[in-house]
Amino acid sequence: MLSFDYTRASDSAGAIALGRRPDSRFLGGGTNLVDLMREDIEKPRHLIDVTQFSTAISATEDGGILIGAGTKNTAIAEHHIIRTRYPLLSRAILAGASAQVRNMATAAGNLLQRTRCHYFFDRHAHCNKRAPGSGCDALQGFNRMHAIIGGSPSCVATHPSDMCVALTALDAIIHIDGPGGTKAIAMGDLHRLPEDRPDIETVLGPGDLITAIELPVSAASPNAIYRKVRDRASYAFALVSIAARLDVDRGKIASVRLAFGGVAPKPWRASLAERALLGGPATAKAFDAAADLELAAARPLRDNAFKIDLTKRVMTAALQELASGGRS
Ligand code: SF4
Repeated sequence: MLSFDYTRASDSAGAIALGRRPDSRFLGGGTNLVDLMREDIEKPRHLIDVTQFSTAISATEDGGILIGAGTKNTAIAEHHIIRTRYPLLSRAILAGASAQVRNMATAAGNLLQRTRCHYFFDRHAHCNKRAPGSGCDALQGFNRMHAIIGGSPSCVATHPSDMCVALTALDAIIHIDGPGGTKAIAMGDLHRLPEDRPDIETVLGPGDLITAIELPVSAASPNAIYRKVRDRASYAFALVSIAARLDVDRGKIASVRLAFGGVAPKPWRASLAERALLGGPATAKAFDAAADLELAAARPLRDNAFKIDLTKRVMTAALQELASGGRS
C-alpha cells in the first residue's frame, strides 16, 4: 500500500479545490475504496474525506426529496419518507449489504463503487479497467457473473450496486459541484459503458463532487418492486436484479419504469421494454414480449447465457405482481 495524505474537508468548495489535484480521491465511508487500496488496486496520493457535510435528507420545494451525498445507506433505507413514498429505494439498499456496511457506506460512495469482477481484484490478471491496454481475462475466463448486455471487447464487468438500479427506475437526479460550477444530471447519464475505456466509469471530471441525489415527486409510488436473484440467501452481488414501477389504468399500462442490475456495466434502464409496454395490456404475454425486445441485444459469454432467461422471468414475475396489486 502506497503512502497517502488525508484531509478532512469541511465544505464542498474546499473538497473540490483539493480534489482537482492528480491522484486525488474523495473518501466516503471507505467500504469500497479502502478495500481497493489495501489490495493495491487503487493508489491515490491524496484522500479527501467528504463525510462531514451533505448528510441530510430534506424535502425539495416541489415535493421531492434531496438526499445529501454523505448520508449513510442505513439512514436512507430507514428514513420514514423514503420507506413510505420511495419504498423501492429502501428495499434495494436493504438487499445490498449487511447492516455493518450500510452503517458506513454513503450515498455517493454507493453510486461510485467499482465492479467486483474477480480479475479486477487480482493484480496478476489482465484487466483493462485496472491496467488500460492489458487485456481482459474475463472474456475467456470464468464469467458467470459478468455482463450480457452493454459490454465491449474491452470489458464485460457488471456494476455492483443495488441502490443504483432503484435510483435508475426512480428517475433520480444527481447533483454535482465542481470546478466548472454546479450541474444536475439524470441518473441514467452518470455511468458510462466501457467501450474502449473501461477505466473511465462515469462522466465526472477531476474535482467533480456529487453533493446530493434528488428523487422527483413524480417517482413517489408504493407500487414498486425490487427483486434480486443471488447465489445465496445472505448478502451477495446480484446475478440479476429488477427495479420496477407500474401503474395500470383500466387494464392498460399508464406508466412503467424498469431497470436491471447484475447484467450490464451500468444500471440498465430497460427503455425498449418500457416503450413497448406503455399504453398496452398488463398481461404476462406483453411482459414476456417486452423482455424479449429488451434482451434481443444480449450477447452472453460462455458461462452466463442463463442470465437472459432469468432476467426475463424475474421481470415478468415482478410486473405481474405489480399488475395484480401485490408488491414487495
Ligand atoms: Fe477487468 Fe472488465 Fe475484464 Fe473484469 S471484465 S477483467 S474488470 S476488463
